[in-house]
Amino acid sequence: MDAGTVRRWLAASAAAISEQRDYLTQLDAAIGDADHGANMDRGFAAVVERLDGEESSQPPGKLLLTAGSTLVSTVGGASGPLWGTALRRAGRALGEADEFGAEELVAALDAALTGVVELGAAKEGEKTMVDALGPAVRVLRERVETGAGLAEALAAAREAGEEGMRATVPLQALKGRASYLGERSIGHQDPGATSTALILAALERSAAAEA
Ligand code: ADP
Ligand code: MG
Repeated sequence: MDAGTVRRWLAASAAAISEQRDYLTQLDAAIGDADHGANMDRGFAAVVERLDGEESSQPPGKLLLTAGSTLVSTVGGASGPLWGTALRRAGRALGEADEFGAEELVAALDAALTGVVELGAAKEGEKTMVDALGPAVRVLRERVETGAGLAEALAAAREAGEEGMRATVPLQALKGRASYLGERSIGHQDPGATSTALILAALERSAAAEA
């Protein structure tokens, strides 16, 4: 994997988020303030535009740092700083290398998850994006450590993220805006876990072809 992989991942994420913008907004209308689709769409569209203007020689880690900073500066909602931090930490983990393999990808996504948890203080089960990202990173690491191919590992990670996303439905939100609803947050899928599943699926499509 290389800078092209990262560019394809972020472009595929932006496209999926744009396509699902209304759905993400509906989910946030139920337990938040109906801006998650707009927030993520604005942020990822800005990321793609920004990266299109970056020199083609930029290494993958640098692209992720730029993408993260762009999210932080363009998204007002909680998801901007959270995903911005995630991408910046992933970029920092990849460093200056021009290419990276499955193990470096695990380390990068692990760093992303750690960044989200440090910033938002959400644990799994509190009905946030961590409920999708946490299981996905765990499964990716397990699969890579036990020798699975990249495509298989990413597919398993994506599935774990989707399962985590669906598992947010019966949970009560304990972090973020949805927590203000108390028990009334139960019965709705978390918007941030849903966009996270889209981003994980985009990663699978962008990276697995190169395995
Ligand atoms: P806002 O809540 O500021 O309107 P968004 O609607 O864009 O921001 O994002 C809401 C999503 O952010 C939630 O669905 C949840 O997944 C995620 N989120 C909110 N607070 C936290 C947190 N403390 N830790 C992790 N994720 C969080
Ligand atoms: Mg919102």
